[in-house]
Amino acid sequence: MIRVKKGFPLKKFTTIRIGGLAKFFIVAKTENDLIDAVAFAKKKKLPWYLVGDGSNLIVADRGYKGVIIQNKIEKFARQGREVSVGAGNNLLKFIFKLDRLGFAGMEKMAGIPGTVGGAIYGCAGAYGQEIKDVLVRVRVFDGQKFKLLTKKQCQFGYRESIFKKRKNWIITEATLKLGAGDRYQLLQTSRGIIKLRGQKYHRGLRCPGSFFKNIKLENVKPRALREKFLEKVDPAKIIYGKVPAGYLLDQIGARGMRQGKIRVAGHHGNLVYNPGGGKASEVVILSKRLKALVKNKFGIKIEEEVQYL
Ligand SMILES: Cc1cc2nc3c(=O)[nH]c(=O)nc-3n(C[C@H](O)[C@H](O)[C@H](O)COP(=O)(O)OP(=O)(O)OC[C@H]3O[C@@H](n4cnc5c(N)ncnc54)[C@H](O)[C@@H]3O)c2cc1C
Repeated sequence: MIRVKKGFPLKKFTTIRIGGLAKFFIVAKTENDLIDAVAFAKKKKLPWYLVGDGSNLIVADRGYKGVIIQNKIEKFARQGREVSVGAGNNLLKFIFKLDRLGFAGMEKMAGIPGTVGGAIYGCAGAYGQEIKDVLVRVRVFDGQKFKLLTKKQCQFGYRESIFKKRKNWIITEATLKLGAGDRYQLLQTSRGIIKLRGQKYHRGLRCPGSFFKNIKLENVKPRALREKFLEKVDPAKIIYGKVPAGYLLDQIGARGMRQGKIRVAGHHGNLVYNPGGGKASEVVILSKRLKALVKNKFGIKIEEEVQYL
């Protein structure tokens, strides 16, 4: 049975603590809840939007005049080294569970906030691991029926997937195949990475993670543009074929920039945060300013990693 909340403040839920009211807010703990939540939206003739833990979202100040459905489907089953996991599982809790089982492949992603479903949507990754590396297939609800998609059908790329194009496809479950590892070492790695991440993301910081995507060099086209761009970049800054957006933003003096109450962190150019009282409209203006400055200096466009709603 779903519980429908009316006039739910989305700023309570996003990690940047921004966003107006959702007309309706429903938590789906099972696939049946999900079917009911979508049916509720259809009956009300309202749009619906699926969220995980709100760790990559900038919700408009005017809110959302439809039904926000939060995925909390948390089942977990294993067979050999294959694990089937509900997409609403918290990613960190899930990774610790894998570590304890001695299942390797996601231990370096520890500390990425959000759900398993959110990570698949954005092809999340950190420290050289991406969720796609261990993914076998996903179960998806398209608003009418359920279907299985293979990893290939998910069309993963750097922070990309088919789900960014098919906004009404809801990932309900994922099957992952993990490698073998030593549980003690896996836990050590995860804990070490969480500690390291704390240097960038200070405790309690209201932010959506990295604001802009890094620049994948093979995607900078045509070649002449890429070569011109590379003339302006310190080669030592290129990591795994990518130029960090944070490096470009540091070069244009982004650190410490402000727009209304919203700020760029003083210790990292690709970290936009809300010290309190910030608005989505301010985030949007700040983002436009940063993009224009990067374009002006480096001749290329940076794109948001965050998702606007
Ligand atoms: C402090 C901090 C650090 C971060 N570090 C990293 C990092 O190192 N690497 C990285 O990749 N990201 C990072 N992020 C970004 C964020 O944690 C990830 O993008 C995360 O995977 C989002 O998951 P979520 O459940 O919170 O999704 P939400 O923010 O709730 O939603 C994001 C998008 O995913 C869609 N979505 C969510 N669940 C589903 C689903 N089940 N089916 C279909 N679509 C869905 C939503 O519709 C929305 O468009 C960081 C964020 C923060 C706040």
